[in-house]
Amino acid sequence: MTPESVQPISKQRIFVGSAYLGTARSRTNLTIWIQALVDKVVFDAMIRDKDGDIVAIGVQYTKNGETSIVHARKEVIVSAGTFHSPKILELSGIGDADLLRSLGIDVVIDNPHVGENLQTHPYCTMAFEVRDQEGFQTMDGLIRQDPSTIKAAMESYQKQQEGPFTKSGLNATAHLPLPSYLMSTDGKTELDKVFKQSCEGAEPGKTTAAFAKAYEKFVHSVMSSPTEASVLYYSFPGFAMIEGEGGMADIPPGSKNWFTAATLLAHALSRGSTHITSASSSSLGLTVDPKCLSHPFDVEVLARHVQQLETISKTEPLASHLVRDGRHLPSSNNLSNLDEARDLVRQKAVAAHHYSDTCSMMPRELGGVVDEQLRVHWCKNLRVCDFSIAPLMTRCNPQATVYGIAEHGARIIKSSS
Ligand SMILES: Cc1cc2nc3c(=O)[nH]c(=O)nc-3n(C[C@H](O)[C@H](O)[C@H](O)COP(=O)(O)OP(=O)(O)OC[C@H]3O[C@@H](n4cnc5c(N)ncnc54)[C@H](O)[C@@H]3O)c2cc1C
Repeated sequence: MTPESVQPISKQRIFVGSAYLGTARSRTNLTIWIQALVDKVVFDAMIRDKDGDIVAIGVQYTKNGETSIVHARKEVIVSAGTFHSPKILELSGIGDADLLRSLGIDVVIDNPHVGENLQTHPYCTMAFEVRDQEGFQTMDGLIRQDPSTIKAAMESYQKQQEGPFTKSGLNATAHLPLPSYLMSTDGKTELDKVFKQSCEGAEPGKTTAAFAKAYEKFVHSVMSSPTEASVLYYSFPGFAMIEGEGGMADIPPGSKNWFTAATLLAHALSRGSTHITSASSSSLGLTVDPKCLSHPFDVEVLARHVQQLETISKTEPLASHLVRDGRHLPSSNNLSNLDEARDLVRQKAVAAHHYSDTCSMMPRELGGVVDEQLRVHWCKNLRVCDFSIAPLMTRCNPQATVYGIAEHGARIIKSSS
């Protein structure tokens, strides 16, 4: 289950600002500047550490239109997220030498893997019309913005700190293995065949061959295990069909209650990238190419789980809560046909906002950007500490892992100072 970001006693929503920064902001050794945009990390080509590695001497930033440099006494920690951490590294001269030179940026560390290996979770949602049953409530009143439902929810929260505003909408999640019985009568053999064909048909990315091979082996071990989860299933008591560019589809007119479930691919083999397109720190100078579902095996896995989800909807105990032969979205595909299930995935799957891995923690020769101490390869006093360092995608929503990376990063930094 995804942890709720709600304080269990006060029932107030909490987030990283209130949970971590709120308790630390009065410390005398902490200075917070807001509306300050980091342009780049600054180096002095003449300064090297005892191993001959380059040393970061500070950070250039822009605030109120003025550009200044803040000097680092010990080290610099970049924590700008999956898109902006590699962007800051590239603007600082750490990245693919050819790209940097083409933009007129002096190369400090040539590492073509900065901004590569971009991953996320692609997912499909399916919505089912729910039978009108006494005492059976969904969140559809809130989704329709029905004034009486919103009023009742507000009152319930304000008076008793109860009701839908005290929790997230998700009511159950499950990690499920690949439905191998759908693959063929002799399951594993068919999985191996589909896997091999898919990998042979995949476009080679910029990931190193060694990492691509190791990752394929890992994904295959997950997929062929009857107990390892290949997909995370979510369910939501209401209409929440997400499609196209990630927007919510309109709730069908004339309908009352819905149940939505999503299948989210845990370990995608598709890899994208993000890179700067200009030497300026203006946020417009960035390309993001997630290449979601570009690896054929990702489509194969999601298609089989979409088929499984439809089977679950026709199975008790869910089946008797749904309108028999009722509205069911997306409705155009016959999902018992695998080709149609694949089409549904290609047309309707969206990318979750769980992007990661553009400054992967891996050995340099595998395509890494930071080492196991979060230090940028060949610059020991520059670390990256955010979700961009994860070399493997989490199997579920990343928030708890991001907090774990930050807490572990703090321990590493304290123990090395
Ligand atoms: C719409 C949305 C919904 C999501 N829902 C969920 C969810 O329900 N559950 C879940 O687990 N995850 C969810 N995620 C994912 C989760 O928010 C991210 O994985 C997580 O925030 C990543 O943390 P991070 O520290 O790596 O980066 P971020 O949280 O992006 O933090 C980076 C920070 O750096 C700042 N920054 C960037 N560039 C600069 C610069 N040049 N100078 C100064 N500051 C800079 C940014 O303003 C930002 O504050 C969601 C993400 C989105 C976008």
